[in-house]
Amino acid sequence: GSLGSPGAVKYDAGVPGRVRVAVRLRPRNAEELVADADFADCVELQPELKRLKLRKNNWDSDTYEFDEVLTEFASQKRVYEVVAKPVVESVLEGCNGTVMAYGQTGTGKTFTLGLLGEEDTASRGIMVRSMEDILAAISPETDSVSVSYLQLYMETIQDLLDPANDNISIVEDPRNGDVSLPGATVVEIRNQKNFLELLRLGEAHRFAANTKLNTESSRSHAILMVHVKKSVIGREATLSSENGNASHLSNTIKSPVVRKGKLVVVDLAGSERIHKSGSEGHTLEEAKSINLSLSALGKCINALAESSAHVPVRDSKLTRLLRDSFGGTARTSLIVTIGPSPRHRGETASTIMFGQRAM
Ligand code: ADP
Ligand code: MG
Repeated sequence: GSLGSPGAVKYDAGVPGRVRVAVRLRPRNAEELVADADFADCVELQPELKRLKLRKNNWDSDTYEFDEVLTEFASQKRVYEVVAKPVVESVLEGCNGTVMAYGQTGTGKTFTLGLLGEEDTASRGIMVRSMEDILAAISPETDSVSVSYLQLYMETIQDLLDPANDNISIVEDPRNGDVSLPGATVVEIRNQKNFLELLRLGEAHRFAANTKLNTESSRSHAILMVHVKKSVIGREATLSSENGNASHLSNTIKSPVVRKGKLVVVDLAGSERIHKSGSEGHTLEEAKSINLSLSALGKCINALAESSAHVPVRDSKLTRLLRDSFGGTARTSLIVTIGPSPRHRGETASTIMFGQRAM
């Protein structure tokens, strides 16, 4: 919450079950540099204190604390390292994990998650950097990594790798709560070039689908699912070798343990639709649907923050899809993106509050 008691327990990146929340400010764009030239930014960041000040007026501001505060100077590499890397590492250990970006359209969600950085590798976003780390950690002979790429629009899941596949259903395993999408295309990734091609294809399909539906990509969620299967020599093997039990050791080595992890990266719909239902160019139904999924997501992460026994995942497709990827042993990282313009102070305040409620 807002700057709490000084002795409050700090969240550790390695602890599952809680949502880790970072805030990232994008630099002023060309238009803001001119139009807002006489005005201060609506926020002031104190990254070393992990604090953000939201200006109320010329002399007063509210202070908020986050797990990480990323200024307009934070590199894509640093953002990856603080926001996503701990999640990727736990996925390689066989856990599920989620990285989500939440914020008003134009504040840098896609910049943070989705940049391919083909000309300038320093600009690569979280999706590409995650895959790079995963590919480096697995061995091609025994392990595999495969991806699905989806769009969730108006409570319908579309396959971005196969546009004909436009109504994918979610199946939950009643025994363990595992979520699967039996209808979704799954493509095995062998190298980074494969992956970049796939992301490009997905983007092209997303653009075409949204043109057909006469909507904008900011009104839907883009969801990348990465499945990692990694063989490891079983714990028994290590233990029995310590005990000098060589025959048991050779048995276990023949049948290695397969660790399965799933990473979900979600570029959420623009959060401004929550408030401005009925604003230009989109229907009330569309606004309601975005409203539904983002508020359902908000309720689930609030429930996690409060260690509530009941996480209301059933309220939307988005949260049903994420059911096995947050809470429990899963790591969840939320990055809230904001812009500096004083004209968008209201939207910025509401994004900051969404992030605060998640902690
Ligand atoms: P969103 O996906 O939230 O709508 P985008 O990622 O498309 O926003 O960003 C909007 C614009 O701002 C883009 O032109 C993008 O390149 C730029 N931008 C966003 N974040 C940054 C940043 N941290 N540094 C530089 N430019 C940024
Ligand atoms: Mg975007």
